[in-house]
Amino acid sequence: MYVIENYSRLPVRFVKGEGVYLYDDEGKRYLDFVSGIAVCSLGHSHPRLVEAICSQVRELIHVSNLFENPWQEELAQKLVEEFWASGKVFFCNSGTEANEAAIKLVRKFFRDRGENRFRIITFGRGFHGRTYGSLSATAQEKFHEGFEPMLEGFDYAELNDIGSVIKLVNRNTAGIMLEVIQGEGGVNECESEFLKEVQSLCREEGLLLIVDEVQTGIGRTGMFYGYQHFGIEPDIITLAKGLGGGVPIGALLAREEVAQHLTPGSHGSTFGGNPLACRAGFVVVEEVKKLLPQIREVGEFFREKLEELGAGRVKGRGLMLGLELERECKNAVLKALERGLVVNCTAGNVLRFLPPLIVEREHVEEAVEVLREIL
Ligand SMILES: *Cc1c(COP(=O)(O)O)cnc(C)c1O
Repeated sequence: MYVIENYSRLPVRFVKGEGVYLYDDEGKRYLDFVSGIAVCSLGHSHPRLVEAICSQVRELIHVSNLFENPWQEELAQKLVEEFWASGKVFFCNSGTEANEAAIKLVRKFFRDRGENRFRIITFGRGFHGRTYGSLSATAQEKFHEGFEPMLEGFDYAELNDIGSVIKLVNRNTAGIMLEVIQGEGGVNECESEFLKEVQSLCREEGLLLIVDEVQTGIGRTGMFYGYQHFGIEPDIITLAKGLGGGVPIGALLAREEVAQHLTPGSHGSTFGGNPLACRAGFVVVEEVKKLLPQIREVGEFFREKLEELGAGRVKGRGLMLGLELERECKNAVLKALERGLVVNCTAGNVLRFLPPLIVEREHVEEAVEVLREIL
């Protein structure tokens, strides 16, 4: 009654979660294959995460960025260790903010060098967030509708079509920004060859390559960062969703020469990287690193099972999978929910699966059984 109705919510109230399961207010159990949209990477009530969060709440929740913050250093080091080059991290609170920071950093990088380069090439069906910079970077009309004018400086190309990218490069182009697997857009994978061509183009033209890892990052695809499947070397990556295991946190990671352009006072966030969020992120990263082989193994098993179903094209990698149906999938989501399985429908006809990264074969079998019944 008092909450603005900008979401169409499913008719269920979850009150408790444990591992890969959720429980509603009538005590009914559900297998969670959405994880709060790729957020609850360690599942629900993970003992080590709960312990770390509770103990941090007792010690110190927040101090602001007016002061030194050792928890940020600890988490940043963990994130950089997995990055291809030496880099540095900026912390914020969400995916859209991480992308805002990336867009600002790209502009600042060239401005500091006296170059008038500010345009960023992004891709159709991509999704980068809802604030004006990220929204403008999101090349989907339906998200812009009613909110124009968009921020200036974005050009839209087609995924897996290098010609469409080359055509857009001019003397004002500063960077190329993409998701290696588009999440909201329907679990659309970049081809390896395409990404290598994008990388070469960036090198030839002196452009920065920004990979939005908000959904693909932190183990989701079976590698710690999604770009690692493709042998590319981004200048900037952005993170959020799975990083805090449910505690809001976002991050931007940039190669050192790029990162140094976010000088004191140039950008900031009140909440960004507070002790609570960083402590949660630290535990998530440590646990996810241990889970990587299991994510690949269970992900591969899940993919095979989905293919066996023969209900549509299977897309994605690791534990970020989609099943493209020939019809709308809204109804399938409701039917699955009735049978105790939580799945998501994106891009109209793609059933999307984002189970917690702790998921095991037996849970996949349980989920596929429900899918078999309803499809
Ligand atoms: C979800 C998502 C975002 C936006 O993240 P918020 O935390 O909702 O702002 C940005 N990029 C990608 C790839 C996403 O999946």
